[in-house]
Amino acid sequence: MMRLTIFWRLVVGYLIIFILVMIVGIYAIIQLKRFNTVTQYILNVDNRILEYEKNLVDLTLSQHRFMKKYIISGDRGLYNQFFSTKEAFSRNLDMVLAVSDTRFHREPLTKIKEYHDLYQSLVGKETGLIQAKRIYSKKEYESEKERLVDGILKELDLLEVRVRQDAHQRMKEQGEAGDSARTMAVILASLALGSIIVISFLITRSITAPLGLLRLKTREIAEGVFKSDLKISSSPEISELAQAFNLMIHRLSTLEKMKSDFFSTMSHELRTPLTSIKEGIALLQEGAAGPVTDKQKKLLDIVAQESRRLIELVNSSLDFSKMEAGMMTYHFEPADLVFLINKVILEMGPLVESKKIRLEAEVKASLPKVTMDQERILQVLRNLIGNALKFTPEGGRIGVFAGLTGQGIKVAVRDTGPGIPENSLLTIFNKFQQVIPEKSFQIKGSGLGLAIVKHIITSHGGRVWAESKLGQGSTFYFVLPV
Ligand code: ADP
Repeated sequence: MMRLTIFWRLVVGYLIIFILVMIVGIYAIIQLKRFNTVTQYILNVDNRILEYEKNLVDLTLSQHRFMKKYIISGDRGLYNQFFSTKEAFSRNLDMVLAVSDTRFHREPLTKIKEYHDLYQSLVGKETGLIQAKRIYSKKEYESEKERLVDGILKELDLLEVRVRQDAHQRMKEQGEAGDSARTMAVILASLALGSIIVISFLITRSITAPLGLLRLKTREIAEGVFKSDLKISSSPEISELAQAFNLMIHRLSTLEKMKSDFFSTMSHELRTPLTSIKEGIALLQEGAAGPVTDKQKKLLDIVAQESRRLIELVNSSLDFSKMEAGMMTYHFEPADLVFLINKVILEMGPLVESKKIRLEAEVKASLPKVTMDQERILQVLRNLIGNALKFTPEGGRIGVFAGLTGQGIKVAVRDTGPGIPENSLLTIFNKFQQVIPEKSFQIKGSGLGLAIVKHIITSHGGRVWAESKLGQGSTFYFVLPV
């Protein structure tokens, strides 16, 4: 059973169940047949004997009656009637003898035959005497015949009693046998039922148990645990599946390792030199390497800006790759969203001022705390408010709103920028998706900001979307469940 395929397990299991049911069925049929035989016997033999017995009683009496009348009247017709009843008696007697098969029954029957023969020879002698017209003691003959008839009737009675007793005994035995057969049938049926349940349970378990293991393992993998130690000695199909599964886990863990190696190399190999460049430029700008001319200053400003952009790009692309690979870890804890909004608004202060933009915050002070990763939500706010600042022309307006709704805390960032065409409202949240900028808005970016926002909000169990009309500004919303 251990290494059978699922198909053969089912076949063998059901075959056993079938055989068990057959055994119970055959047993029941055999018992029924036995009862049938006994009943048939009682009907065929006992009842027939009783019938003959009754005939014999009648025939004995009429024989005797005809004989008596004949002796009184000497009428030939009566003698003939006597003779035919006698013949009928013998026929019946022969038939009972043929039917009855036990000594118990034969014993009275042979006695009856004896008595009858004696009776006949007595009658023979008497009719001889009568025909010869001789005088004899009628009384003596009469009493002798009476005695024989009585004997016959007594034996017939005995026969009836015995047959009835016999039938009764058989019925009783049959009843007892029926009782024990019923008990046996109940035991057999319960045994079969028990085995059927056990067999079905074993078969089902032998299939579901390894599947359950596989399911557990799959869940582990979903949680990022790659241990390829799944050993299932079950049916060959499932063992094969387990092997393939182990292979898959092995490859996944190799890939996983490559990925994390790549990330750490990238962060180190790219970020470190970029930071050095940035710092070098800052030193140059401060004149640490000698006086800087106006022209040089302008160039250094451009280089500084570009290197900042490059650092941002590297950072967000690393962040996003991590998120996509499911390697971003979140540290959830209850925190105050209003505090974070105010913090970002404060950070943005210099840029807001330089672009002469009016930034207004309309935030309910008493909002409940939300479970979140504060750093990541800060990133979201920076991206959204940063985008609003980036896309809103000088002298524009930006509004930040936060309030409680049925689904959680809803935050809105509204600007008076160029707006977003309707068919791009969904795609801008995909990576590297940017609305083709109009000539007047040549603003550079990576196209990753909103993709990161969406990832973070979704990981918090929230929702993010944008509403906009071209030329009328845009509003970005997100909802965090409370
Ligand atoms: P990036 O800003 O770096 O290009 P984002 O993912 O942040 O990337 O934004 C994707 C695109 O969505 C932007 O290129 C821009 O076309 C559009 N967009 C985002 N925010 C706004 C906004 N406040 N107003 C108008 N367009 C926006």
